[in-house]
Amino acid sequence: MVRQENCDIIVIGGGSAAFEAAVAAHEAGARRVVMLEKAPEAEYGGNARYSGTGFRFVHGGSPEIRQFIPEVDDATFATMQIGPYGADDFLADLDRMTEGRMNRVLAETLVSESNAAVHWMRDVGIKWEPLKEHAKVDGKRYFERGIAIHVAGGGLGQLTQWRRIAEARGIEIRFESPVCAILGDLRRVEGVSVSGPDGRYDLKAKAVIACAGGFQANAEMRARYLAGNTDRMKVRGSRHDTGEVLRMLLDLGVRPSGEWRSGHMSPIDANAPDVETPQHEDGRGNTQSRYDYPYGITVNALGQRFFDEGEAQHSYTYAKTGRAVLAQPGARAIQIYDQKGVRCIRYPHHKATYMEADTIADLAAKVGLEAAVLVQTVEEFNRAVRDDKLFFPGKLDGRATQGLALPKSNWAIRIDEPPYRAYPVTGGITFTFGGVEINRQAQAMNSLDQPVKGLFASGDIVGLFFHNYPSFTGQTRNAVFGRLAGQAAVQEN
Ligand SMILES: Cc1cc2nc3c(=O)[nH]c(=O)nc-3n(C[C@H](O)[C@H](O)[C@H](O)COP(=O)(O)OP(=O)(O)OC[C@H]3O[C@@H](n4cnc5c(N)ncnc54)[C@H](O)[C@@H]3O)c2cc1C
Repeated sequence: MVRQENCDIIVIGGGSAAFEAAVAAHEAGARRVVMLEKAPEAEYGGNARYSGTGFRFVHGGSPEIRQFIPEVDDATFATMQIGPYGADDFLADLDRMTEGRMNRVLAETLVSESNAAVHWMRDVGIKWEPLKEHAKVDGKRYFERGIAIHVAGGGLGQLTQWRRIAEARGIEIRFESPVCAILGDLRRVEGVSVSGPDGRYDLKAKAVIACAGGFQANAEMRARYLAGNTDRMKVRGSRHDTGEVLRMLLDLGVRPSGEWRSGHMSPIDANAPDVETPQHEDGRGNTQSRYDYPYGITVNALGQRFFDEGEAQHSYTYAKTGRAVLAQPGARAIQIYDQKGVRCIRYPHHKATYMEADTIADLAAKVGLEAAVLVQTVEEFNRAVRDDKLFFPGKLDGRATQGLALPKSNWAIRIDEPPYRAYPVTGGITFTFGGVEINRQAQAMNSLDQPVKGLFASGDIVGLFFHNYPSFTGQTRNAVFGRLAGQAAVQEN
């Protein structure tokens, strides 16, 4: 006989979406909220543990951002150039990045609720810091529109804060407690079956909120769903995001959504570990991301460029650039910079493998490329660089190449100031885009196009994105839909 237990609300997962849903449910009146985390305590938190915790949200610029970072002294704050980011801006970014394919209702909900969700986080006690990602020009720090702050302490910092807030409210977190079945059917969910450290048991509740992440750490599911070189993908985040809860929900009759052959994949050091690329100890982001490609060129193993490195700021291109790298021979590429480019590297604190040489031919030899081919690629690129616009790393400068079949649209500077530098990179998968469909209250939708009673979802398990992704939208999506799910789960009953 399987042991039975009851509670008010079950939250599956131990990442940021899960904490946000659990705290919101408690605030909305749920007395007994139980979080079920598959990982052991030392590894809890899924991808959130590895996250840079940057948030993209609608805000009014400097005066509003100041409320989040009161500890920054006035002189430093005065150097920070932070313009407003409106609902129209965020919606336009989502539309452009996802090629207009994102569910309109969810896109509008994400945008319209983003400001309230981030303020709610501050109100419940989450602390913030200014983003490290900005361009420094003449002593001023230019932040890209929509992104100015991250949660203090990065991935683990955010989790530690959420855990303190949740435990202070009496929310129970059970580690080493993988959910192994969903109790119910496509019309109504009543609980879950758990494989706990002391054996299997059924936990029943008024509602279940699924926040169990994507399937990026599952090689079999990657091979089944994703395009291209799936075995070569390094997994940037948690080894525990293996997609079984997503599969259970699909088997139950929940509708799939989002782009199943795609995911967020970004360029990382070719020597990064296969899974869980490390964060800096102080939470200053992931140590092996290689996002500076707009200030140089990137070539494949044949010595050829293969994408427009200057299409837009990295925050609008990095999530698809890893996919482009993975599609190259050997799933590898080389980022090449001269000293002008090296001076623009915004992540000098990141650990990276690189080689240097005084000539492009010597650099080619060091990275294993055919020297004559790389020299020709660089010379062709240099000849195409126009000088009619000033190079300005803080914004789209329109300094483009002319006459190349594959242009570089911004920040085109000649590679002519030695020593030259080469960074070998590959593509790392961050999270998958295919997941379950939800409505604007974060209720899971079934194949009859009806909400499944008692079932909600938030985070990477939700299928939301197509093609590309504007940076720092994942954490905002977690907060928006986690909060809505927590509230709606309590109100439904
Ligand atoms: C290196 C890196 C940097 C990033 N930086 C940013 C950033 O700066 N800004 C941003 O917006 N996004 C960022 N992201 C993305 C963002 O962190 C993720 O989108 C987010 O963490 C997903 O949250 P989640 O709660 O849905 O999933 P996760 O945080 O992955 O949590 C899923 C949880 O479910 C648990 N779980 C899995 N299976 C089961 C099961 N069977 N039973 C019980 N529990 C289960 C896992 O153990 C885990 O605790 C980054 C991601 C990475 C990897």
